[in-house]
Amino acid sequence: MRVESISFKNYRNLAELTLEPCEGVNIIYGNNAQGKTNIIEALWLFCGGHSFRTQSYRELIAFDKSFAHLECAFFGQERRQTASITIEPAKRLIKINGVEKKTSAALIEKFCAVVFSPENLSLIKRGPAERRNFIDSAICREKLRNALTLQRYNRLLKQRNALLKDIPKNEALRPTLDLWDEQLSTLGAEIVTQRLEFTRMISEKAAVYHRGISRGSEELSLRYVSSFGASENDSRAELKQKFLEKCKANYQNEIFTGSTASGAHRDDIEILINGKNSRFFASQGQQRSAVLSLKLAEASVLRERMGEDPVILFDDVLSELDNDRQDYLLNELKGCQVFITCCEKSNKEQLNEGKVFYVEGGEVTELRVE
Ligand code: ATP
Ligand code: MG
Repeated sequence: MRVESISFKNYRNLAELTLEPCEGVNIIYGNNAQGKTNIIEALWLFCGGHSFRTQSYRELIAFDKSFAHLECAFFGQERRQTASITIEPAKRLIKINGVEKKTSAALIEKFCAVVFSPENLSLIKRGPAERRNFIDSAICREKLRNALTLQRYNRLLKQRNALLKDIPKNEALRPTLDLWDEQLSTLGAEIVTQRLEFTRMISEKAAVYHRGISRGSEELSLRYVSSFGASENDSRAELKQKFLEKCKANYQNEIFTGSTASGAHRDDIEILINGKNSRFFASQGQQRSAVLSLKLAEASVLRERMGEDPVILFDDVLSELDNDRQDYLLNELKGCQVFITCCEKSNKEQLNEGKVFYVEGGEVTELRVE
């Protein structure tokens, strides 16, 4: 998969411009606050319409404008395609190959990227939701079906929680819980099956990348920690059964607290470095290297599952890495289309082949690579 061109209009500080990247490494270089991350964020929107920085569409539109418009020509599924996103404060309009789509989910399975941004560093240290999101985001980019299942699961969960709160006021509602549990456990089992598979694949590949990045001194692995006793070899039917049993065992307590105590929404993915939980022990450098290994592994798993390379978006990834690690990274990315932002002049000089774009005040100039 590769981007052939991307045009911006009124997108944050990018007033009107078109970028024509190369197939390989594209360095986006410039001082702070010039628009580098804005470019990466816009590219990421084509994966499914969500920003990695904000949930508010208004923020994406240039301060004094009423809409923003993005157009992307890309090569994917063995053909040239186009997609456009028009962002208004309260809605978005998506077109793929000129055809209007109802929701931005239509972009899933069309365009695929992997992003690393400084926000991702919280993956290691924050709570389980960040790590579930990491795996969920990957399974949702792979298949639209997974995104829809997750959406339905979250909707059902909210309804079940509302019911739990209503039961103390109206005992006649209690038997209806069974109906919700049946549906919730079916969807939950489907999600956890996909998560277990992805976690296993990402763990295997991340271990290899991390050995490279840490020059063999660290072992990285992932472990899925289930709130309802799910284990890697369980079939979907077994997962559903375990989920249901846990719901039944928790009824009394759940009615008291008004929330669903276990299930896919309470699971965690432990990230272990040399067998120790990195959440509690990882240093700054270890966190950065571990997240990088996970992102490289994510790209590699998506490539394997989808049959083509995702576009790699690396925002500010080089800044705290020493030269050897920077070289390792740039070499590992060969074969994919890559966008890397940086502030350091030296980074663009490390590049032998590719394009360099200089960003200043929302204007982009292509620099010659000598
Ligand atoms: P850094 O190196 O510090 O990460 P950057 O080049 O990645 O900087 P961006 O995050 O892309 O910078 O932001 C560039 C500028 O975009 C900021 O100065 C910000 O004020 C501006 N900006 C953000 N949102 C909007 C908006 N809606 N309208 C106009 N400008 C905006
Ligand atoms: Mg930035």
